[in-house]
Amino acid sequence: MSADAVDPRALLAQILDPVEAWEAEHGAFEAHPSLGVPRQRLDGAIAEFTARLTAPTDGEEDGIYPFFHPRYAGQMLKPPHPVAWAAYAAAMRLNPNNHALDGGPATGRMEKEVVADLAAMFGFPAEHLGHLTGGGTVANLEALFVVRELAREAGTPPAIAVSEAAHYTHARMAHVLGLDVVTVPTDDRGRMDLGALEGPLAEGAVSAVVLTAGTTGLGTVDPIREGIALCRRYGARVHIDAAYGGFFRLLASGENGEGETSGARGLSGFPAGDFLAIEDADSVVVDPHKHGLQPYGCGAVLFRDPSVGRFYRHDSPYTYFTSDALHLGEISLECSRPGAAAAALWLTLRALPLAPDDGLGPVLAATLRAARAFARGIEASPAFRLWREPELDIVGYYPASASLSEIDAASGALFDRAMAAPEAVYLSLYRVDADAFPPEIVRDRPHARILRSVLMKPEHEAWAESLVTRLEEMV
Ligand SMILES: *Cc1c(COP(=O)(O)O)cnc(C)c1O
Repeated sequence: MSADAVDPRALLAQILDPVEAWEAEHGAFEAHPSLGVPRQRLDGAIAEFTARLTAPTDGEEDGIYPFFHPRYAGQMLKPPHPVAWAAYAAAMRLNPNNHALDGGPATGRMEKEVVADLAAMFGFPAEHLGHLTGGGTVANLEALFVVRELAREAGTPPAIAVSEAAHYTHARMAHVLGLDVVTVPTDDRGRMDLGALEGPLAEGAVSAVVLTAGTTGLGTVDPIREGIALCRRYGARVHIDAAYGGFFRLLASGENGEGETSGARGLSGFPAGDFLAIEDADSVVVDPHKHGLQPYGCGAVLFRDPSVGRFYRHDSPYTYFTSDALHLGEISLECSRPGAAAAALWLTLRALPLAPDDGLGPVLAATLRAARAFARGIEASPAFRLWREPELDIVGYYPASASLSEIDAASGALFDRAMAAPEAVYLSLYRVDADAFPPEIVRDRPHARILRSVLMKPEHEAWAESLVTRLEEMV
């Protein structure tokens, strides 16, 4: 199928027209005068609002960084696909609440369908349990909540192991849940050191291990295949935090002779086998609002064993009357949730399916190629050193200097300068420990900031080389 460019405003009208026609079928009524707004006041407020949103972002002023532009490669931020935006806006017009089917049967069913799509992407069984959440943090909280309940049932320690590169919210949510955390060091590439994990497992000190598929820092994937095998040997549960990297699972399916897809074949450093191994985990979290082209907040948690639904004690006197079918609020810690989020993801995945060579796959493959092109440019430049070969779409690098204090200062200066320049380039900073740098660099500080570029838009592929050139001019 040839692809057509999408005009967001036309798309919104196309989706909103039938919604408005359906509204009109219910008969006209007068909106209450209290909901009116004096025109002058509204005009003034809108003028201030748009001025603040679009103000220049230098200094401490308001404004927004241009997340949509290829020159923005700073944090994990990009606008949703216009299909998601229009579907969200049209569904929000009706404002369904996916807590219960009473809150909107259509978006409740859409949520069950997209959750099944996500489960199929990871290779989870058809009989699984899952739902959307406000984001990755709540999704991980739910997975850890189930860890705690199972540990209570089994009388195993209320403790988890996470790597030192795992997302900071695991420790926060473990604190909320009363779980102890064993922090496992990382290897030279920033992946969980399985040798160091084996001790706590062998001692029976932890009930579950969190492995990350795409760290928030540098997009590193823990050794999931070997990690799961190790956990199984000691009877520990495995949760995969794939909030950032989960959708890259699509590109792993051409590997292992699993079919005729181009996927990520030929891309150095992409850990296809570890993505395939997620199918053997007990639970997994993925954030459609990161690489699934969705607006915030859309996370998802999936459990292999549907019987863990028993831990969500549910007894509500008022919400569940329209249907005996499973209501999503019976298996989620949150109560009210936007049906519009499910609607947006549903329409997006119908338009851009979860496939390696169609829909989302080619979008993600372009980001992987962008990171490799950016990394090759950094390697070819005398001004910079590549930190590590990228596994996903995030590249770490630093100004070529003799000491950590010079590297730290030069990184900070380039970060500021690049953002303030005309034709600005937006980067981020990332702090790394001294002993992870090459030995010839003088370690006159315990750690130093390096530069980080998140090349998460497919347009970055065409821009990677010129972004490096632009940075070289400014270093
Ligand atoms: C973003 C992220 C989270 C947190 O998810 P939110 O959607 O921001 O709440 C957790 N883990 C990883 C690996 C992430 O990248």
